[in-house]
Amino acid sequence: MCRDLAEIASDYIDGELNGRQNLSVKMHLMMCKDCRTFIGNLRASSNLLSAHSSGKADEEFLRRIDERVAEALSVRKNKCSDSE
Ligand SMILES: [Zn+2]
Repeated sequence: MCRDLAEIASDYIDGELNGRQNLSVKMHLMMCKDCRTFIGNLRASSNLLSAHSSGKADEEFLRRIDERVAEALSVRKNKCSDSE
């Protein structure tokens, strides 16, 4: 489900999901702190994007943000099992 959410997260932020999808995202966010953080980061990036390019996002730029978010998530996961 976290994986599903990651896929539709940007549509969620853009308000492009239908009512049922929107509701299931909200339900998941209530239960899942990681995804709340994820959506929060994504929303912040999205705000930056719209400030950066007045609406339409550059695909390459979007892809890089995507990578950074994925990176942040995997770092978080590593931390859980890391004893350093
Ligand atoms: Zn989740």
